[in-house]
Amino acid sequence: EQEVAEYRKMLAARVSGFDVPRPLKTFKDCGFSPQLMHDISKQGYEQPTPIQCQSLPIVLSGRDIIGIAKTGSGKTAAFVLPMIVHIMDQPELKKEEGPIGVICAPTRELAHQIYLETKKFAKAHGIRVSALYGGMSKLDQFKELKAGCEIVVATPGRLIDMLKMKALTMLRATYLVLDEADRMFDLGFEPQVRSIVGQIRPDRQTLLFSATMPRKVEKLAREILADPVRVTVGEVG
Ligand code: ADP
Ligand code: MG
Repeated sequence: EQEVAEYRKMLAARVSGFDVPRPLKTFKDCGFSPQLMHDISKQGYEQPTPIQCQSLPIVLSGRDIIGIAKTGSGKTAAFVLPMIVHIMDQPELKKEEGPIGVICAPTRELAHQIYLETKKFAKAHGIRVSALYGGMSKLDQFKELKAGCEIVVATPGRLIDMLKMKALTMLRATYLVLDEADRMFDLGFEPQVRSIVGQIRPDRQTLLFSATMPRKVEKLAREILADPVRVTVGEVG
């Protein structure tokens, strides 16, 4: 019974790509630090969701990924947990400036949700998270960025504004997440997204998540991801 249930859960997420790491069944299999395991159980997360089972080993291996899954499937932790690992792996964390992880989301509300989730996992590691979206004072954000951070969670428009104000550089950014890419396009943010991607070093790791994959998003993915693995959950895509 148990095994059948496990098997069904795996099948709920499909993967395509070459040399793809095997999915895992528990957070324990991820090789996370005791601190991160503690943070995960503090959230009440007992088992990884199907997209997490498939994408965590892929992202932890350093591969680019296209994740196609509906709202509520647990995409945030799928990109935040490996981001914490990625940042903790950096030598001399506090020496250089600018974020290591950059997360773009289409709306203020979404960016705020991601910000809250990211902080839960970042805090105990001493990783600083800045939220950049409308409705907050640009001056306050400028000051916060000048004080330093390892992760920014931003809407494309506000991130561009901050880059123009030279509030931050993305010279050390190596982990880029584009969340809800289809909505980003629907809202007309394609030029901003392209501008942001163009300012991040090409040897970065890039993760693109979307509920649907219209042709325009597919084209962007082809242009900005390197040899990505595609993970599809449920009937979408
Ligand atoms: P999505 O981005 O796919 O819409 P979210 O990342 O917002 O989904 O997650 C949806 C909900 O599921 C959130 O309330 C989140 O805290 C919860 N969640 C995520 N991963 C797990 C897990 N492994 N176990 C239990 N709950 C989870
Ligand atoms: Mg989401």
